[in-house]
Amino acid sequence: MPLPPSRTRRLRIPAVAIALVLLLGAGVAAVMGVRSFQAASASLEHSYRVINLLEATDAAVRAAEANARGFRNTRQAEYRPQFFAAMGRADRLTGELVELTADNPQQQARARTLVEAIAAHMVAMQALLDIEALEATDPAERRRDAGINLRRVGELAALSQEMLAVEQMLLQQRRDRSEREATTLVLFIVLAMTIALLLLGMLLVGLSRENRRSRQLEREARHAVSELQQALVLRDTLAEQRRTQSVYAGLLQSCQSSDELMALTVRTVQDLVPGSSGRLYLSKTSPNFLESVDSFGTRVISGSDVIMHDQCWALRRGQPHYTRGRSGGLRCAHIDSDTPVDGVSSLCVPLAAQGTSLGLLHVSGNTSDTVEDNDATMIISIAEQMGMAIANLQLRESLRLQSIRDPLTGLFNRRYLEENLVREMLRCERRRLPLSLMMLDIDHFKRFNDEHGHAAGDAVLAHVGRILQSLVRAEDLACRYGGEEFTIVLPETDAQAAIVRGREIGRAMSSLTIRHMDKPLGPVTISIGIATAPHDSADAGLLLEIADAALYRAKAEGRNSVVRTSAQA
Ligand code: GH3
Ligand code: MG
Ligand code: MG
Repeated sequence: MPLPPSRTRRLRIPAVAIALVLLLGAGVAAVMGVRSFQAASASLEHSYRVINLLEATDAAVRAAEANARGFRNTRQAEYRPQFFAAMGRADRLTGELVELTADNPQQQARARTLVEAIAAHMVAMQALLDIEALEATDPAERRRDAGINLRRVGELAALSQEMLAVEQMLLQQRRDRSEREATTLVLFIVLAMTIALLLLGMLLVGLSRENRRSRQLEREARHAVSELQQALVLRDTLAEQRRTQSVYAGLLQSCQSSDELMALTVRTVQDLVPGSSGRLYLSKTSPNFLESVDSFGTRVISGSDVIMHDQCWALRRGQPHYTRGRSGGLRCAHIDSDTPVDGVSSLCVPLAAQGTSLGLLHVSGNTSDTVEDNDATMIISIAEQMGMAIANLQLRESLRLQSIRDPLTGLFNRRYLEENLVREMLRCERRRLPLSLMMLDIDHFKRFNDEHGHAAGDAVLAHVGRILQSLVRAEDLACRYGGEEFTIVLPETDAQAAIVRGREIGRAMSSLTIRHMDKPLGPVTISIGIATAPHDSADAGLLLEIADAALYRAKAEGRNSVVRTSAQA
């Protein structure tokens, strides 16, 4: 099990210190070993020199003996100098021996004894050179001296052997000690280096582990930073989406027309789900099918312009229908079958309010970047708000129409006339154009009521309203002024043109036969009074009065006619 990083770090400095101490110790030991080896070598060399000196001394003594005996036996003169040379050599060698054994008092004592013995022996040998004295000596004494010499030679050899043995023993001891020291040092160095290397190895393993761990931590930190950045981006995106939805909800309340509402919705969907495309369908002419009223984006999915209710799962079930790629469920029949399935998402959301189906919002896009779950939720929310807004608009429009339209005839009412007459007169006045006003009254209308009933009278009124509506231009205002009286505002129309139009209307009325409950109600004629601004008056109220006066004159003059204030037409 790996050590926790803190513990590894705690042990690191002591481990390095121990490793360094061990390496230092190994170095010192190596230096000491070299020194010791040098000392041992010097010591060995010293012993060898002593041994060599002993052997050389022995050789010199023997040479001196041989030369002395040679001279005595042969009387040849050349032995004498050779004897003295050998004697001098022996003397010098023993002097060196005494000096060399100064480090070992016992050996030095033996060396001194050897020096004395050799000196005595040399004296005896030198006596052999004095032939005359020798021959003068008593033979018994000579034999005794020879015996003494022999014994001395033996003692010399023994002393020399003893010194040699001691020196060889010292040599052996020094060799053994040197070997022991060398072995101990090698063991120490090997052990110290092994431990140091082990410690350093462990440190390296620890460092490598820590390095790996810090790299892992770095990777994790980078990953965490990247996740945080993504979360921040997501948070900003969601905040922006919430803001867009809130702006949409606010603007929705102020939409005056369904066109504004469509444009706002399309813009909002494209802001919320960039790259998406789609269509808006509304139930316009018939509740049985929906018609495409707007589209947006580069279309990913193509579909029909008109959707029957049973072609869309969302319309059938009254709830959103979301398909995503191949595994996302059944596609609606209004989507073209040759549209690719893979990688394409499609969302149908019914537009409804209080259980009434109003239309459909269809959004599609590539699965990779649009119409994902969050996007779908936003679009569904948008569609819900949009459904409510459409219903509100329709309600407002219906209330507005109710407030300005006469329900029986479908024409504008008197209030609408009075509001708009002034506006139209001002508009024409600014452009220096005339405006004519027609007052129309059904002739003997009371008779319809009296003869066929009030309902028949209503039918006549409705019929006259439809005819008037069909005969006026788009810019004209056809109104029910009250009872069986009507008014038509004709902007940009002078008196002559108005008279012509009045006659056309009169003719159209009289040529029609109105039926009620499968019974003909007889011909309908109307009297028309005309006034023209600014010629007759530039004031709306006065103009109405003048036109009414003209109508009165038309009635008075026999009805079914068109009268203008200033001159009868
Ligand atoms: P004139 O040719 O002089 O205009 O004769 P008139 O009968 O048309 O005119 P009058 O003013 O005498 O009669 C108008 C009648 O219209 C009176 C009223 O009962 C009737 N009337 C007014 N408003 C309505 C309505 O909304 N429905 C029905 N059925 N009749 C109405
Ligand atoms: Mg009337
Ligand atoms: Mg009338």
